[in-house]
Amino acid sequence: MKTAGIIGHPVAHSLSPVFQQAAFDYCGLDVRYERWDTPADVLATRVASLRWPESLGANVTIPHKEAVFLLLDELGGQSARVGAVNTIVNREGRLFGFNTDGPGFVAALKNEAVFDPAGRRVLLLGAGGAARGIAFALGEARAAEVAIWNRTPERAARLAGDVAATGATVRATGSTDPAGFDCIVNCTSVGMEGTGTEAASPCDFATAAPGALAVDIVYKPENTAFLAAAKAAGLPVLGGLPMLIYQGALAFELWTGVPAPVEVMFEAARRALDAQRR
Ligand code: NAP
Repeated sequence: MKTAGIIGHPVAHSLSPVFQQAAFDYCGLDVRYERWDTPADVLATRVASLRWPESLGANVTIPHKEAVFLLLDELGGQSARVGAVNTIVNREGRLFGFNTDGPGFVAALKNEAVFDPAGRRVLLLGAGGAARGIAFALGEARAAEVAIWNRTPERAARLAGDVAATGATVRATGSTDPAGFDCIVNCTSVGMEGTGTEAASPCDFATAAPGALAVDIVYKPENTAFLAAAKAAGLPVLGGLPMLIYQGALAFELWTGVPAPVEVMFEAARRALDAQRR
């Protein structure tokens, strides 16, 4: 029996245990995926335990995505540039950090919305942790342009500068106007359950080009005010669940080397979300 789990605080409502366990079971892998509620003062001890031979590694969520950096041996993919790790892999006692949020987002775009960002213009709303991963991944996927708007403009400017340093065409913008963009992504927490902003959308779609894709990475609720406004304007939409599943699928593949059973993961997550709603 091997173990994996999610490190965060709190983790009680995380969907990862549900769909990761479903994936391990479906693939016939003898792995138990656990919830590891980890206050900051025991983070180092928890991460050290991932070096044990029975450990595959872990997912990392709020508030530890940055803090785990110093506890790892090597950083893979874009995690060093992004400044955050959401996946830890144990390879014979050495801990490797990855960030699968951005690549998971791009995989969701390609597989679930049939939208390849290469050569396309994307407006990102938000410049927090999730937006950072997504902006680097869109640059890597050769988007023609990424424009970043944020409530706190300095943060958008800093992120645009960091991503532009990789050679991508990225700029900060002071406007949420979707005109001229092929894809508009809500990476803010506006619309998320429990924030008091459930009825709000960070932009309106009156000037959006016909056929522009609206993506909300918020997945609770599934149908946010942002997505409802985009649908009302006749635009295609993608919710936040696919990104969650694909970031998890990439983590699963890093741990196991086995292709992730994405449909099984979707089904388990949807069932859990339905149960939480009841
Ligand atoms: P974060 O680092 O705390 O960033 C929050 C972002 O939202 C910042 O850009 C912040 O702007 C903005 N914001 C918050 N309240 C706002 C308001 N009232 N008006 C305008 N902007 C506001 O959070 P995060 O980790 O990036 O997560 C952002 C959202 O994405 C959350 O809802 C999270 O659940 C979701 N998410 C989904 C996935 C997925 O797999 N689907 C993965 C990660 C995150 P300021 O900089 O001005 O504060």
